[in-house]
Amino acid sequence: MSNSQKIEDVIIIGGACAGLTAGIYTARANLNPLLIEGYQSGGQLMLTSEVENYPGFPEGILGPDLMQKFRAQAERFGTRFLTKDVTKVDFSKRPFLIQVEKEELKAHAVIISTGASANLLGLQNESRLMGKGVSTCATCDGAFFKDAKVCVAGGGDSALEEAIFLTKFASEVTLIHRRDELRASKIMQDRAHKNKKIKFIWDTVITDVLGQDQMTGLKLKNKKTNAESEIACEGLFVAIGHTPNTKLFKGQLNMHENGYIDTLSNRTQTSVEGVFAAGDVQDHFYRQAVTAAGSGCQAAIECEKFLANR
Ligand code: NAP
Repeated sequence: MSNSQKIEDVIIIGGACAGLTAGIYTARANLNPLLIEGYQSGGQLMLTSEVENYPGFPEGILGPDLMQKFRAQAERFGTRFLTKDVTKVDFSKRPFLIQVEKEELKAHAVIISTGASANLLGLQNESRLMGKGVSTCATCDGAFFKDAKVCVAGGGDSALEEAIFLTKFASEVTLIHRRDELRASKIMQDRAHKNKKIKFIWDTVITDVLGQDQMTGLKLKNKKTNAESEIACEGLFVAIGHTPNTKLFKGQLNMHENGYIDTLSNRTQTSVEGVFAAGDVQDHFYRQAVTAAGSGCQAAIECEKFLANR
């Protein structure tokens, strides 16, 4: 990386709930933030339709519209945006170096808010019908499936948690797992087995999502017998794990064994002083838009204090 003169006070990497909130707060603190939002900004809410649990929108709001409002608010206070992907970082010395394609940027502080991506099955119609029956978040979308038949893919704690949550709304929840043994903890298994609304389909993979404008069912294949079948359902909740977007930071910051960035307890400070991590990139527990936004606010305040004390 070559030398460049300008040193930013703070660079925010990632333009969804956490990053945009950090943008609002750092801009209002006169830190003139530069937010590198990447080509796929807006995060997981861009894959959601109606958001009903974000406070302040009693009628609900579409995920992409909510992100647009976050962005407009950050822009209003002077956050500058760069719609490119970060290709490399160097946090080993200060100022920190951030390479954006061929451009090299420097900053006294960095807020990382690159989020996590829900793992998908990789089916073409799964992506096409995302938000039209297919979802990766029961907490966000479960209430849209009142009295409907829905399916959940996965056999871990998340899948069982989603299935149990969905029984509040759905008439029937079918959990489809690729093996005949669940990965989930015993307590979650017991709860799911006791719930009369939950049915299980074992040793089965989903091979297609059916439907034109709205999903209507799934195509299935039994792994042991190779028998193919279809199941009619209005929703599919894919709960096969999340992957934090932390590849860029490997070797630079301490991370949990599951790949999420390590931060000090109840803080956003990472293992490198002056580098903060906010939102789903460091949170594998709550994973909500509102908690990500709160965490972006925390990071901005910690960053402001760090810069003032520097
Ligand atoms: P996970 O434990 O990694 O489970 C993922 C599940 O998805 C597994 O059953 C796996 O099948 C299945 N799977 C993965 N890729 C698949 C594919 N391509 N097609 C079909 N199935 C696929 O992930 P998680 O459930 O999200 O949990 C992550 C961590 O958070 C775990 O440590 C979990 O205990 C924790 N967690 C805890 C709670 C709780 O305590 N309430 C709630 C949520 C999460 P196989 O089993 O065959 O590999």
